[in-house]
Amino acid sequence: TYNFSAGPGVLPDEVITQIKQEFERNEHTHMSIIEISHRSAQFQAIVTEAEQKLRELMAIPEDYAVIFLQGGGSTQFEMIPLNFATNQSHIAILDSGNFAAKASEAAEMLGKQATVLNSTKGINYQKLPILPEHFDPELYDYLHIVTNNTIEGITFHQDNLPSTTGRLVADMSSNILAEPYDINAFDAVFAGGQKNLGPAGVTVAITKKDWLAQQDVRHVGPMMRYQNHIDKQSMYNTSPVFSIYALNLVLDWVVAQGGVTEMHRRNLEKAHKLYAFLDQSDFYTAPVETNARSLTNVVFTTGDLTRDKMIAKRAESEGLFNLNGHRSVGGFRASLYNAQSMAAVDALITFLKKVEKEQV
Ligand code: PLP
Repeated sequence: TYNFSAGPGVLPDEVITQIKQEFERNEHTHMSIIEISHRSAQFQAIVTEAEQKLRELMAIPEDYAVIFLQGGGSTQFEMIPLNFATNQSHIAILDSGNFAAKASEAAEMLGKQATVLNSTKGINYQKLPILPEHFDPELYDYLHIVTNNTIEGITFHQDNLPSTTGRLVADMSSNILAEPYDINAFDAVFAGGQKNLGPAGVTVAITKKDWLAQQDVRHVGPMMRYQNHIDKQSMYNTSPVFSIYALNLVLDWVVAQGGVTEMHRRNLEKAHKLYAFLDQSDFYTAPVETNARSLTNVVFTTGDLTRDKMIAKRAESEGLFNLNGHRSVGGFRASLYNAQSMAAVDALITFLKKVEKEQV
Protein backbone atom coordinates (compact mmCIF):
# COMPACT_ATOMS: atom_id res chain seq x y z
CA THR A 1 0.00 0.00 0.00
CA TYR A 2 1.34 3.43 -0.93
CA ASN A 3 0.33 6.94 0.05
CA PHE A 4 0.72 9.65 -2.62
CA SER A 5 -0.81 12.44 -0.53
CA ALA A 6 0.34 16.01 -1.16
CA GLY A 7 0.34 16.73 2.53
CA PRO A 8 0.52 15.67 5.21
CA GLY A 9 2.79 13.42 3.24
CA VAL A 10 4.45 10.07 3.78
CA LEU A 11 7.19 9.96 6.44
CA PRO A 12 10.12 7.51 6.61
CA ASP A 13 9.25 4.11 8.14
CA GLU A 14 12.17 4.45 10.55
CA VAL A 15 10.76 7.72 11.89
CA ILE A 16 7.31 6.21 12.46
CA THR A 17 8.93 3.36 14.43
CA GLN A 18 10.91 5.81 16.58
CA ILE A 19 7.83 7.95 17.24
CA LYS A 20 5.84 4.92 18.41
CA GLN A 21 8.49 4.15 21.01
CA GLU A 22 8.54 7.72 22.21
CA PHE A 23 4.90 7.54 23.27
CA GLU A 24 5.95 5.22 26.10
CA ARG A 25 6.19 7.17 29.34
CA ASN A 26 9.59 7.58 30.93
CA GLU A 27 9.70 5.40 34.04
CA HIS A 28 11.15 8.11 36.28
CA THR A 29 9.46 11.25 35.01
CA HIS A 30 6.20 9.58 33.99
CA MET A 31 6.21 11.73 30.86
CA SER A 32 6.06 10.90 27.16
CA ILE A 33 7.16 13.25 24.39
CA ILE A 34 3.73 14.86 24.15
CA GLU A 35 3.72 15.63 27.85
CA ILE A 36 7.06 17.36 28.32
CA SER A 37 7.30 21.11 28.82
CA HIS A 38 8.51 23.33 26.00
CA ARG A 39 10.70 24.94 28.68
CA SER A 40 12.36 21.62 29.61
CA ALA A 41 16.04 21.00 28.94
CA GLN A 42 14.99 17.94 26.92
CA PHE A 43 12.94 20.04 24.50
CA GLN A 44 15.46 22.87 24.31
CA ALA A 45 18.09 20.34 23.24
CA ILE A 46 15.73 19.09 20.50
CA VAL A 47 15.20 22.61 19.13
CA THR A 48 18.92 23.37 19.16
CA GLU A 49 19.70 20.10 17.41
CA ALA A 50 16.96 20.58 14.80
CA GLU A 51 18.18 24.08 14.00
CA GLN A 52 21.79 22.92 13.66
CA LYS A 53 20.83 20.04 11.38
CA LEU A 54 18.71 22.21 9.14
CA ARG A 55 21.54 24.73 8.92
CA GLU A 56 23.94 21.96 7.89
CA LEU A 57 21.55 20.33 5.43
CA MET A 58 20.72 23.60 3.66
CA ALA A 59 24.10 25.31 4.25
CA ILE A 60 22.36 28.21 5.99
CA PRO A 61 24.92 30.86 6.99
CA GLU A 62 25.02 32.54 10.41
CA ASP A 63 23.52 35.76 9.07
CA TYR A 64 20.17 34.00 8.72
CA ALA A 65 17.88 33.19 11.66
CA VAL A 66 16.14 29.79 11.71
CA ILE A 67 12.94 29.36 13.71
CA PHE A 68 10.11 26.88 14.15
CA LEU A 69 6.60 28.30 14.27
CA GLN A 70 2.97 27.23 14.22
CA GLY A 71 0.24 28.31 11.80
CA GLY A 72 1.40 26.61 8.60
CA GLY A 73 2.41 28.20 5.32
CA SER A 74 -0.79 30.25 5.36
CA THR A 75 0.28 32.20 8.44
CA GLN A 76 3.53 32.98 6.65
CA PHE A 77 1.48 34.60 3.87
CA GLU A 78 0.72 37.20 6.56
CA MET A 79 3.91 37.25 8.65
CA ILE A 80 6.11 37.85 5.62
CA PRO A 81 4.41 41.08 4.48
CA LEU A 82 3.85 42.25 8.07
CA ASN A 83 7.58 41.95 8.81
CA PHE A 84 9.13 42.73 5.46
CA ALA A 85 6.79 45.03 3.53
CA THR A 86 7.20 47.91 5.96
CA ASN A 87 9.05 50.38 3.75
CA GLN A 88 7.32 50.57 0.35
CA SER A 89 4.29 48.55 1.58
CA HIS A 90 4.43 47.13 -1.90
CA ILE A 91 5.33 43.60 -2.90
CA ALA A 92 5.91 41.95 -6.27
CA ILE A 93 4.68 38.45 -7.09
CA LEU A 94 5.36 35.97 -9.83
CA ASP A 95 2.14 33.98 -10.05
CA SER A 96 3.08 30.39 -10.84
CA GLY A 97 0.07 28.82 -9.14
CA ASN A 98 -2.57 28.85 -6.46
CA PHE A 99 -0.25 29.40 -3.48
CA ALA A 100 1.34 32.48 -5.07
CA ALA A 101 -2.11 33.95 -5.65
CA LYS A 102 -3.06 33.22 -2.02
CA ALA A 103 0.04 35.00 -0.70
CA SER A 104 -0.84 37.98 -2.85
CA GLU A 105 -4.42 38.11 -1.53
CA ALA A 106 -3.24 37.89 2.09
CA ALA A 107 -0.79 40.78 1.61
CA GLU A 108 -3.54 42.91 0.07
CA MET A 109 -5.88 42.19 2.99
CA LEU A 110 -3.18 43.51 5.31
CA GLY A 111 -3.16 46.81 3.44
CA LYS A 112 -0.05 46.13 1.36
CA GLN A 113 -0.05 46.60 -2.36
CA ALA A 114 0.63 43.34 -4.19
CA THR A 115 1.52 43.53 -7.85
CA VAL A 116 1.46 40.39 -9.93
CA LEU A 117 4.34 41.01 -12.34
CA ASN A 118 3.50 38.04 -14.46
CA SER A 119 1.09 35.12 -14.26
CA THR A 120 0.64 31.92 -16.22
CA LYS A 121 -2.88 31.35 -14.93
CA GLY A 122 -4.27 31.82 -18.46
CA ILE A 123 -2.45 28.67 -19.57
CA ASN A 124 -3.36 26.72 -16.42
CA TYR A 125 0.09 27.29 -14.97
CA GLN A 126 1.72 24.95 -17.44
CA LYS A 127 4.71 27.29 -17.73
CA LEU A 128 6.63 29.46 -15.31
CA PRO A 129 5.98 33.21 -15.35
CA ILE A 130 9.06 35.14 -16.46
CA LEU A 131 10.32 38.19 -14.58
CA PRO A 132 9.60 41.19 -16.87
CA GLU A 133 12.70 42.97 -18.17
CA HIS A 134 11.47 46.34 -16.89
CA PHE A 135 11.16 45.02 -13.29
CA ASP A 136 12.58 47.63 -10.91
CA PRO A 137 13.24 46.06 -7.47
CA GLU A 138 13.56 49.52 -5.93
CA LEU A 139 9.80 49.96 -6.19
CA TYR A 140 9.01 46.93 -4.06
CA ASP A 141 9.98 45.60 -0.65
CA TYR A 142 10.56 42.16 -2.13
CA LEU A 143 9.64 39.67 -4.83
CA HIS A 144 7.59 36.66 -3.65
CA ILE A 145 7.82 33.28 -5.40
CA VAL A 146 6.69 29.75 -4.63
CA THR A 147 9.57 27.42 -5.46
CA ASN A 148 7.19 24.50 -5.96
CA ASN A 149 3.50 24.98 -6.57
CA THR A 150 2.02 21.89 -4.99
CA ILE A 151 -1.30 21.97 -6.84
CA GLU A 152 -0.05 22.55 -10.38
CA GLY A 153 3.23 20.64 -10.02
CA ILE A 154 5.44 23.45 -11.32
CA THR A 155 8.83 24.44 -9.93
CA PHE A 156 11.38 27.21 -10.02
CA HIS A 157 14.42 24.95 -9.71
CA GLN A 158 17.68 26.59 -8.64
CA ASP A 159 18.69 27.05 -12.28
CA ASN A 160 15.46 28.79 -13.30
CA LEU A 161 14.99 31.09 -10.30
CA PRO A 162 14.14 34.66 -11.31
CA SER A 163 17.26 36.76 -11.36
CA THR A 164 16.80 39.91 -9.27
CA THR A 165 19.11 42.26 -7.40
CA GLY A 166 16.25 42.97 -4.98
CA ARG A 167 15.04 40.97 -1.99
CA LEU A 168 13.61 37.54 -2.76
CA VAL A 169 11.15 35.59 -0.58
CA ALA A 170 10.39 31.92 -1.27
CA ASP A 171 7.60 29.64 -0.16
CA MET A 172 9.39 26.25 -0.13
CA SER A 173 6.58 24.38 1.60
CA SER A 174 6.49 21.49 -0.84
CA ASN A 175 10.09 21.08 -1.95
CA ILE A 176 12.33 22.08 0.94
CA LEU A 177 15.13 19.49 1.28
CA ALA A 178 13.88 17.75 -1.87
CA GLU A 179 16.31 19.52 -4.18
CA PRO A 180 19.21 21.86 -3.58
CA TYR A 181 18.81 25.64 -3.40
CA ASP A 182 21.48 28.18 -2.67
CA ILE A 183 20.05 29.89 0.39
CA ASN A 184 22.07 33.00 -0.42
CA ALA A 185 19.72 33.63 -3.34
CA PHE A 186 16.91 34.33 -0.84
CA ASP A 187 16.26 36.83 1.93
CA ALA A 188 13.48 34.83 3.55
CA VAL A 189 12.28 31.26 3.10
CA PHE A 190 9.40 29.48 4.78
CA ALA A 191 7.95 26.00 4.64
CA GLY A 192 5.05 24.24 6.34
CA GLY A 193 6.45 21.03 7.81
CA GLN A 194 3.89 18.51 6.65
CA LYS A 195 5.41 17.46 3.34
CA ASN A 196 9.15 16.95 3.58
CA LEU A 197 9.94 17.88 7.16
CA GLY A 198 7.56 15.99 9.41
CA PRO A 199 3.98 16.10 10.60
CA ALA A 200 1.68 19.13 10.37
CA GLY A 201 1.93 21.66 13.15
CA VAL A 202 5.40 23.09 12.58
CA THR A 203 6.56 25.67 10.06
CA VAL A 204 10.15 26.64 9.39
CA ALA A 205 11.07 30.28 8.78
CA ILE A 206 14.55 31.31 7.65
CA THR A 207 15.09 35.05 7.59
CA LYS A 208 18.07 37.25 6.86
CA LYS A 209 19.00 39.06 10.08
CA ASP A 210 20.15 42.37 8.61
CA TRP A 211 16.97 42.69 6.55
CA LEU A 212 14.83 42.06 9.61
CA ALA A 213 16.76 44.73 11.51
CA GLN A 214 15.78 47.33 8.88
CA GLN A 215 12.05 46.90 9.45
CA ASP A 216 9.65 49.01 11.46
CA VAL A 217 7.33 46.53 13.17
CA ARG A 218 5.96 48.77 15.91
CA HIS A 219 2.42 48.13 14.69
CA VAL A 220 2.78 44.39 14.27
CA GLY A 221 1.29 42.19 17.01
CA PRO A 222 3.77 40.30 19.17
CA MET A 223 3.01 36.80 17.85
CA MET A 224 3.43 37.96 14.27
CA ARG A 225 6.91 39.43 14.79
CA TYR A 226 9.71 37.14 13.69
CA GLN A 227 12.13 38.85 16.05
CA ASN A 228 10.16 37.77 19.13
CA HIS A 229 10.36 34.13 18.09
CA ILE A 230 14.04 34.46 17.19
CA ASP A 231 14.89 36.08 20.53
CA LYS A 232 13.22 33.19 22.38
CA GLN A 233 14.71 30.42 20.21
CA SER A 234 11.30 29.28 18.93
CA MET A 235 9.88 29.19 22.46
CA TYR A 236 8.15 32.57 22.56
CA ASN A 237 4.88 30.84 23.35
CA THR A 238 4.09 27.15 23.82
CA SER A 239 5.96 25.43 21.01
CA PRO A 240 4.52 22.53 18.98
CA VAL A 241 6.68 20.10 20.94
CA PHE A 242 5.67 16.90 19.21
CA SER A 243 5.93 18.31 15.68
CA ILE A 244 9.40 19.73 16.29
CA TYR A 245 10.49 16.48 17.90
CA ALA A 246 9.30 14.53 14.84
CA LEU A 247 10.88 17.07 12.47
CA ASN A 248 14.18 16.53 14.28
CA LEU A 249 13.90 12.77 13.63
CA VAL A 250 13.17 13.40 9.95
CA LEU A 251 16.26 15.62 9.72
CA ASP A 252 18.32 12.81 11.31
CA TRP A 253 16.97 10.49 8.66
CA VAL A 254 17.84 12.90 5.83
CA VAL A 255 21.39 13.27 7.21
CA ALA A 256 21.77 9.48 7.50
CA GLN A 257 20.60 8.97 3.91
CA GLY A 258 23.22 11.39 2.56
CA GLY A 259 21.62 14.82 2.85
CA VAL A 260 19.92 16.94 0.22
CA THR A 261 22.26 15.70 -2.53
CA GLU A 262 21.05 12.15 -2.03
CA MET A 263 17.38 13.21 -1.61
CA HIS A 264 17.67 15.10 -4.90
CA ARG A 265 19.28 12.13 -6.67
CA ARG A 266 16.48 9.83 -5.53
CA ASN A 267 13.78 12.38 -6.30
CA LEU A 268 15.12 12.92 -9.81
CA GLU A 269 15.17 9.18 -10.37
CA LYS A 270 11.60 8.69 -9.12
CA ALA A 271 10.12 11.68 -10.94
CA HIS A 272 11.96 11.02 -14.20
CA LYS A 273 10.75 7.45 -14.26
CA LEU A 274 7.13 8.54 -13.84
CA TYR A 275 7.37 11.43 -16.34
CA ALA A 276 9.10 9.16 -18.87
CA PHE A 277 6.22 6.71 -18.62
CA LEU A 278 3.61 9.49 -18.96
CA ASP A 279 5.41 11.08 -21.92
CA GLN A 280 5.53 7.86 -23.93
CA SER A 281 1.87 7.11 -23.21
CA ASP A 282 -0.93 8.05 -25.64
CA PHE A 283 -3.43 7.88 -22.81
CA TYR A 284 -1.95 10.13 -20.08
CA THR A 285 -0.41 13.59 -20.36
CA ALA A 286 1.79 15.55 -17.98
CA PRO A 287 1.01 19.13 -19.00
CA VAL A 288 3.81 21.13 -17.30
CA GLU A 289 6.73 22.30 -19.46
CA THR A 290 9.68 19.94 -19.07
CA ASN A 291 12.25 22.21 -17.40
CA ALA A 292 9.76 23.37 -14.75
CA ARG A 293 8.24 20.03 -13.81
CA SER A 294 7.99 19.31 -10.14
CA LEU A 295 9.99 16.46 -8.63
CA THR A 296 7.69 16.28 -5.62
CA ASN A 297 4.20 16.65 -7.14
CA VAL A 298 3.72 14.95 -10.49
CA VAL A 299 0.51 16.20 -12.09
CA PHE A 300 -1.13 14.39 -15.01
CA THR A 301 -4.48 13.59 -16.64
CA THR A 302 -6.17 11.43 -19.25
CA GLY A 303 -7.89 14.58 -20.49
CA ASP A 304 -11.24 13.47 -19.04
CA LEU A 305 -11.62 14.57 -15.42
CA THR A 306 -14.53 12.22 -14.67
CA ARG A 307 -12.52 9.27 -15.95
CA ASP A 308 -9.49 10.43 -13.90
CA LYS A 309 -11.62 10.41 -10.77
CA MET A 310 -12.83 6.88 -11.43
CA ILE A 311 -9.30 5.65 -12.06
CA ALA A 312 -8.04 7.28 -8.84
CA LYS A 313 -10.87 5.57 -6.96
CA ARG A 314 -9.98 2.22 -8.45
CA ALA A 315 -6.31 2.81 -7.55
CA GLU A 316 -7.37 2.89 -3.91
CA SER A 317 -8.80 -0.61 -4.15
CA GLU A 318 -5.36 -1.67 -5.39
CA GLY A 319 -3.52 -0.03 -2.50
CA LEU A 320 -2.54 3.27 -4.16
CA PHE A 321 -3.99 6.12 -2.10
CA ASN A 322 -4.49 9.85 -2.60
CA LEU A 323 -3.86 10.11 -6.34
CA ASN A 324 -6.61 12.66 -6.97
CA GLY A 325 -5.46 16.06 -8.14
CA HIS A 326 -6.28 19.05 -5.93
CA ARG A 327 -10.02 19.68 -5.79
CA SER A 328 -9.54 22.97 -7.68
CA VAL A 329 -7.97 21.33 -10.77
CA GLY A 330 -8.88 17.63 -10.80
CA GLY A 331 -6.83 15.04 -12.69
CA PHE A 332 -4.11 13.10 -10.91
CA ARG A 333 -1.32 14.16 -8.62
CA ALA A 334 1.30 11.74 -7.35
CA SER A 335 3.33 13.30 -4.57
CA LEU A 336 6.85 11.91 -4.39
CA TYR A 337 8.31 13.51 -1.29
CA ASN A 338 11.66 12.44 0.15
CA ALA A 339 10.24 9.46 2.02
CA GLN A 340 8.40 8.11 -1.01
CA SER A 341 10.02 4.93 -2.31
CA MET A 342 10.86 3.88 -5.84
CA ALA A 343 8.68 0.82 -5.16
CA ALA A 344 5.71 3.20 -4.89
CA VAL A 345 6.52 4.72 -8.28
CA ASP A 346 6.91 1.27 -9.83
CA ALA A 347 3.56 0.15 -8.40
CA LEU A 348 1.90 3.30 -9.73
CA ILE A 349 3.33 2.82 -13.22
CA THR A 350 2.25 -0.83 -13.27
CA PHE A 351 -1.27 0.21 -12.31
CA LEU A 352 -1.44 3.07 -14.85
CA LYS A 353 -0.18 0.74 -17.60
CA LYS A 354 -2.82 -1.81 -16.78
CA VAL A 355 -5.60 0.79 -16.91
CA GLU A 356 -4.26 2.17 -20.19
CA LYS A 357 -4.21 -1.27 -21.75
CA GLU A 358 -7.83 -1.88 -20.80
CA GLN A 359 -9.00 1.46 -22.14
CA VAL A 360 -7.15 1.84 -25.43
N1 PLP B 1 2.36 26.95 0.29
C1 PLP B 1 2.44 25.80 -0.39
C2 PLP B 1 3.40 25.68 -1.52
C3 PLP B 1 1.61 24.73 -0.03
O1 PLP B 1 1.67 23.57 -0.70
C4 PLP B 1 0.71 24.89 1.05
C5 PLP B 1 -0.20 23.78 1.46
O2 PLP B 1 -0.27 22.75 0.90
C6 PLP B 1 0.66 26.12 1.70
C7 PLP B 1 1.51 27.12 1.31
C8 PLP B 1 -0.31 26.34 2.82
O3 PLP B 1 0.17 25.64 3.90
P1 PLP B 1 -0.69 25.36 5.22
O4 PLP B 1 -1.81 24.47 4.85
O5 PLP B 1 0.35 24.74 6.10
O6 PLP B 1 -1.15 26.68 5.74
